[in-house]
Amino acid sequence: MLQTMIVGSLPRPTWLVPPHSMYVSWQLDEAQRAEGCDDAVVLAVADQEWAGLHILTDGEQRRRHYIWGFCEGLSGLDFERLAKIDTRGNRYGIQVDAARVVGPIRRPKPILVDALRFLKRQTGKPVKVTLPGPMTTADTLADEHYGDRQTLAAELARVLNEEALELAENGCDIVQFDEPCFNIYLDAVEDWGIRTLEAAAKGVRAKIAVHICYGYGIPLVVEWKNHNTDWSHYGRTLPLLRTSAIDMISVECAASGVDPSVLALDRGKDLMVGVIDVGTEEIETPQTVASRIRTALQYVEPQHLYPCTDCGMIPRSRTAARGKMKALADGAWLVRSELSG
Ligand code: ZN
Repeated sequence: MLQTMIVGSLPRPTWLVPPHSMYVSWQLDEAQRAEGCDDAVVLAVADQEWAGLHILTDGEQRRRHYIWGFCEGLSGLDFERLAKIDTRGNRYGIQVDAARVVGPIRRPKPILVDALRFLKRQTGKPVKVTLPGPMTTADTLADEHYGDRQTLAAELARVLNEEALELAENGCDIVQFDEPCFNIYLDAVEDWGIRTLEAAAKGVRAKIAVHICYGYGIPLVVEWKNHNTDWSHYGRTLPLLRTSAIDMISVECAASGVDPSVLALDRGKDLMVGVIDVGTEEIETPQTVASRIRTALQYVEPQHLYPCTDCGMIPRSRTAARGKMKALADGAWLVRSELSG
């Protein structure tokens, strides 16, 4: 019980990408990059092992960005001539550069399977691979081909399913789809979002998780959270997921104004509960983490509770990320000791 893990990403070494970069420009040229990424993954795994986490990721060290890292392996997209688009329901008031969908989306070959195999050679612990969810990916592309969001998402779900099936066949324990848009487009989530996510997960012989958050811990998003007063979104999405084929749900609880009693809406599902604030360099004490876990335990049974970070830690310093992972593992250990007497 109380198995710990991070949502997915960790900050990358500064010799690989400049510090605090979200969309990276690599510091190494093409020939050196593969070795550099391998080395960064070894360090990311070592940090998670050192902290004492139970389920590991590769820290998404090889990806330019959590959406692009998958989409760059697809055909039908143009990454050369980018378009400016509104995204995330314009919640954060910015436009972003987006690849254009210019033809049928296909997956010519596996995208993250080699990375999974490398990760599994570094650890004997269970591993998780994250993929961008179909709704959120569709929200991050400039569609000039399919003509409507739902069709684009369905096509993305098809290639995501191909990838997820192969990840599971190659020993991936948890396949996690990142769907921050499940906290934004609530009507669409109900109409087609969950169904499309289930299509991406269909037949996959691994645990299927969905990560739903209020965004990265970057200043723009932290500012939005500081002023936001409506935290009702999980209240609508979690009951929909309870009756879905999705096994695990990742919920942000540490830094947002979310009322943790909402967790009770998914009783019976596995819940990854955010007990680490990813929007600050301040490292939580194990006692703070333990107290957040005890609160979650009022609504989630211990065998279903996975203490986790709120979101990816890519915007943090490596020192803060290491400290936060240690606090996460130590805080969970404190509560586990109490529970087992
Ligand atoms: Zn997130």
